[in-house]
Amino acid sequence: MRNYGIRQVQTSARILLICPECGQENSESADTLRRTSTFYCAGEDCDYIFDLMPGRRTDLGKAFVDACKRFYAAFYTVRRQKAP
Ligand SMILES: [Zn+2]
Repeated sequence: MRNYGIRQVQTSARILLICPECGQENSESADTLRRTSTFYCAGEDCDYIFDLMPGRRTDLGKAFVDACKRFYAAFYTVRRQKAP
C-alpha cells in the first residue's frame, strides 16, 4: 500500500529540475519523468542530461523518490548561491 500511495502523489506532482550547467528551470510532470530514464535540459545551447535512474531500475519507486530529493536539494543550493 505504501508504493501505491507514493505513486498517486507522484503522478499528479510537477518536478522542478534545475540545470546545474545553465540554470534552466525545467518543470516536468512526475508522470512523464517516471516513464523515462533521462531528461534533457531545455536550456538553449545546453546539452546537460539529468540522470533520473542511476543504477538498476528494479526499485523504480524508491529510485524516483531519491532522484526527486536530489533535484530539490540542487534547487535550493542554486537559489542560495544566486541570491545570498
Ligand atoms: Zn541546462
